[in-house]
Amino acid sequence: MTKTTGHCFCGAVTFAYSGPQTWACYCHCTDCRRNCAAPVATFLGTPLDGFEWTGQTPKQFNSSKGVIRHFCDTCGTPMAFQADHYVGEIHLYAATLTEPETFEPRSHVYYNSRLPWFHLEDGLKKYGGSAD
Ligand SMILES: [Zn+2]
Ligand SMILES: [Zn+2]
Repeated sequence: MTKTTGHCFCGAVTFAYSGPQTWACYCHCTDCRRNCAAPVATFLGTPLDGFEWTGQTPKQFNSSKGVIRHFCDTCGTPMAFQADHYVGEIHLYAATLTEPETFEPRSHVYYNSRLPWFHLEDGLKKYGGSAD
């Protein structure tokens, strides 16, 4: 099966997965924005079964109850999000993919938290909060 790969800015942390994409969205929540120092974060989800860190193991930050954010301990790149409420899944930042241009976001979550100066007219579904 073809593997999708990605890496951090310095290249120390790398990953590969072969499972399906379970999630593809922009997240406008304040936690993701702070974590990425960007106006929006872009995620893709995949089952943990089929996913592996292939280089240096990223460091973990417990950002809120039941939520772990992974990042490169060398260059600081945010790498992934894992939460108790997404059992068996890992959410990767689409911009860390080896070929980020192949990613297709499908929706926006926490759109009500978006920054007022960040304008989007992409026609995608916009959820005020989480998608569920
Ligand atoms: Zn790095
Ligand atoms: Zn978020």
